Amino acid sequence: MMTAKIGWAMAFVLLGFLGFAISQTIPKIEWGIHDPNRPLPPVVDPGPAGPPVPAPSDAVMLFNGKDLDPWTDNKGNPAKWKVENGYMEVAAKAGSIQTKRGFGDCQLHVEWAAPVEVKGESQERGNSGVFLMNIYEVQVLDCYNNKTYADGMTAAIYGQYPPLVNACRKPGEWQTYDILFHAPRFDKDKKLVAPARMTVFHNGILVHDNAVLTGPTQHKIRLPYIAHADRLPISLQDHGCPVRYRNIWIRELKD
Ligand code: MG
Repeated sequence: MMTAKIGWAMAFVLLGFLGFAISQTIPKIEWGIHDPNRPLPPVVDPGPAGPPVPAPSDAVMLFNGKDLDPWTDNKGNPAKWKVENGYMEVAAKAGSIQTKRGFGDCQLHVEWAAPVEVKGESQERGNSGVFLMNIYEVQVLDCYNNKTYADGMTAAIYGQYPPLVNACRKPGEWQTYDILFHAPRFDKDKKLVAPARMTVFHNGILVHDNAVLTGPTQHKIRLPYIAHADRLPISLQDHGCPVRYRNIWIRELKD
C-alpha cells in the first residue's frame, strides 16, 4: 500500500517536472505583440539576386513555374493565382492558396518578389506570407525603405520574432527564404510536448537561429498551441498585394 502511494507521488512529481520542462522550453517574449518601440534589426545588403536555386534530387517541387497543380484555394477548389513567365502572382480576391499535400518537419525553399510598383506603407506594402502547417507564418513584406513594427517586418516570425537582420532586396528583385521547420509535438492527450522551431535564411543570410515559437502566429494576439495533425498544408497568403513567387521546393525531414 505504502509502495503504491510512493509510486503515485513519484509519478506526480515527474509529471510536474515534465510540465515545468515544457513551459521552460517556450521562451517568454519580453516585448508586447507588434510593439512599435521594439528595436528594428540592422539593414544588411545581401548582394544581387541570382537565378533560381536548383532543387535537389530528393526535393518535392511545389511550384515549377508552369502550373498550380500542387495547390488549391483554402476551400479545396483550384488555385486561381496568375501564372506567367515562370512565376505565380497573388490575384485580386483569389484568396490564399495551400498545398494539397500536408507537411511536418521540412526544409522549405521559396523565392518571392515584392511588386515593382511601390504602393502603401508599413504592412500594406508587398504583404504576403509563407505559412508552415497553415498556422506558423514567416512574413513576406517589402521592407526596403519601409518601416513597420519589428515582429511584422520581412522574414519576421509574425507577431513573435523580428529577423536578426533586414536583408531585403529592392521591390521587384527576387528574394529567397530557406526555412528549416520542426513541427510541434503533441501527446495522445493533445498536450504539447515540444514547441515548433524555425531556422530561417533570407537571401542566404541567417535571420532566425532555431527560434522557438510560442504558439500560432496571429495578428495582435499570441495564442497558446492547440493540438493539430502531424502534417498540414504549406500556404501562401493573399494580403491584397500582387506579390510573386517562383521555384518553391521542399524536402521532408525524417523523425
Ligand atoms: Mg503576411
